[in-house]
Amino acid sequence: MHKFAGASVLVAFPSLALAHEGVHGGSFFAGLGHTLTEPDHLAMMLALAAAVGAGFALRKILRKRKARKGVLSAARQE
Ligand SMILES: [Zn+2]
Repeated sequence: MHKFAGASVLVAFPSLALAHEGVHGGSFFAGLGHTLTEPDHLAMMLALAAAVGAGFALRKILRKRKARKGVLSAARQE
């Protein structure tokens, strides 16, 4: 709960985060442009995308392994 409250404060007042120098205020599109042009934000998004992709790949591997075990155990019973 405390983490959520802290994150909420930083979202409501982004200047408190002080992630790096530069303009963080302005319109939605200015913020979007800033996020897409700053290397640290890009690195964060790439890291998040890599983590999500790794999660999906792991899930796929585990499902294949589980399906293969199911086939093997069914073959043993015959
Ligand atoms: Zn920024």
